[in-house]
Amino acid sequence: MTYHRITYAVWEITLKCNLACQHCGSRAGNTRAKELSTEEALDLVKQLADVGIKEVTLIGGEAFLRADWLEIAKAITSAGMLCGMTTGGFGINLDTAHRMKEAGIKVVSVSVDGLEATHDRLRGRQNSWQWAFKTIGNLQKAGIFVGCNTQINRLSAPEFPCIYERIRDAGAKAWQIQLTVPMGNAADNSDILLQPHELLDVYPMIARVAHRAKREGVHVQPGNNIGYYGPEERMLRGGEAFSFWQGCSAGLSALGIEADGAIKGCPSLPTTPYTGGNIRDYDLRTIIEETEELRFNLGAGTPKGTEHLWGFCKTCEFAELCRGGCSWTAHVFFDKRGNNPYCHHRALTQAKNNIRERVVIKRRADGKPFDNGEFSLIEEAIQAPLPENDPLRFSADKIQWSESWHSEPLMAPLVGSSN
Ligand code: SF4
Repeated sequence: MTYHRITYAVWEITLKCNLACQHCGSRAGNTRAKELSTEEALDLVKQLADVGIKEVTLIGGEAFLRADWLEIAKAITSAGMLCGMTTGGFGINLDTAHRMKEAGIKVVSVSVDGLEATHDRLRGRQNSWQWAFKTIGNLQKAGIFVGCNTQINRLSAPEFPCIYERIRDAGAKAWQIQLTVPMGNAADNSDILLQPHELLDVYPMIARVAHRAKREGVHVQPGNNIGYYGPEERMLRGGEAFSFWQGCSAGLSALGIEADGAIKGCPSLPTTPYTGGNIRDYDLRTIIEETEELRFNLGAGTPKGTEHLWGFCKTCEFAELCRGGCSWTAHVFFDKRGNNPYCHHRALTQAKNNIRERVVIKRRADGKPFDNGEFSLIEEAIQAPLPENDPLRFSADKIQWSESWHSEPLMAPLVGSSN
């Protein structure tokens, strides 16, 4: 019997990386101690097809630093699955791009996290911005569909409209955006993270840019921690009647694989609490069907689906549908899921009640891949003074709108929104 619960897998094929990103959740750089052999990886490809996976995105580290990466890509394609890739783009020349095309890689997302200086600072390597755009060009020449992805944090947010213009001009047709959250290296650099109350200035900006992107043919894809249920939700998620966040999909429709064969319901989730098993110990079908770590979202739509909620999310009118937003985001702030401080509806509701929310680190992460620390949530009056010595604080007046934006309207709230 073909098992069709999960259709999409994101596979970290190596942790080796040629960048050193300040926000890297997996703390990539060196290979993991026991990465899958070629034989094991090719067997896993067969198992992915067998459980009904339709699409696999290869990631790293940097996926192309693994010697057999194109053999794996070819096997994915031959097994009838769509093969995509996410890359930092440092070093994909035209020859590599052609070989990727031959291997069947259909779509590539290149990370662009700021204008040149910000991108290079965040990515920890000079010329990484130049290389990202060279790579975009090489992939396009080879006939591969190219999109971009951007992390939104206190360094990149002021440049968000300019980033859009650069990737549009480079010919990207899709743009995935997500908020940087405190996992791995980002947990050690928490001053670059947006504060929850700063989302009040972030979302109108995202909406204004996304509205224009839609008109100009760039498809904005909100990542799992973008939202939820604010005035811009429907437009951001596609503009159709059911275009709104419908809860965490880890283990429901998505699967994450670490380079040593650990299987999780989502690639971003912390390793220890969310690994159902290792492919070296159990077959994939068993891990998916029988482990609680891959089944924790199966109660969606029933009372069990909200049992894990606590704090503000437990009281929320959208709780049943939302289930506390992105599990990864909630977990890395508070060391357990169920209460998500990165929520637009929450920030708006708290602001109406004159409350401002901030997070302050109370326990540092211990330095392993996909680890997290723990934050305290501070609720204070909006008029209360903000901490001094916080030079990266984000507010609307820091956003760089070039002249081309002057005629671009701010989005009007949509009927049925929470504000
Ligand atoms: S407060 Fe929590 S449950 Fe409510 S919309 Fe936000 S993330 Fe979802």
